[in-house]
Amino acid sequence: MLEANLNIRLLEQCSRCEACYSICPSCRHLPGYDPREVIKDIIAGRFEKWLRSKSIWQCLECHYCLEMCYQHYGFENAMTALRAVAAKRGLHPPQVKRGWDMFAKTGRLGEPALPARKKFGLPEPAAGGAEEFKKLHALLKAKRSEKENEKQRAKGQKAERT
Ligand code: SF4
Ligand code: SF4
Repeated sequence: MLEANLNIRLLEQCSRCEACYSICPSCRHLPGYDPREVIKDIIAGRFEKWLRSKSIWQCLECHYCLEMCYQHYGFENAMTALRAVAAKRGLHPPQVKRGWDMFAKTGRLGEPALPARKKFGLPEPAAGGAEEFKKLHALLKAKRSEKENEKQRAKGQKAERT
């Protein structure tokens, strides 16, 4: 559940503070982007409507809000948590999925435009990290399944004792 992954006490401070609204680039330039509204809804337990909103994908993850925040918590954490839930439910925009697929395949988020690089005298792009990414992904998967097995074992032992 979303609330379980967020610190509601800190978000309550955030909803009263609003200090970083004026330095957030998305707040300044994108009409309708307002993390203050999102946070108020999270606190009130009615965040569902934001899962289908493009707003949560308009956070640039520039970390400005976290940099200036006296509690190092707030706007960005709320947006990240909502995106994670939306992605789990398959509610992400198609271009996000395309980006993930490309990253998994090539280790890049986009293909470098070779003619343009040549025109500007730029060197050949460095190789993408696709192989390293695949190894890391496999390690992560193994670690997760190990954890899951441990959990199941512990559950089984507990059930045997009772
Ligand atoms: S993120 Fe921090 S600085 Fe920004 S409104 Fe929330 S509490 Fe205030
Ligand atoms: S991380 Fe997101 S919410 Fe925070 S300042 Fe940047 S764009 Fe705004």
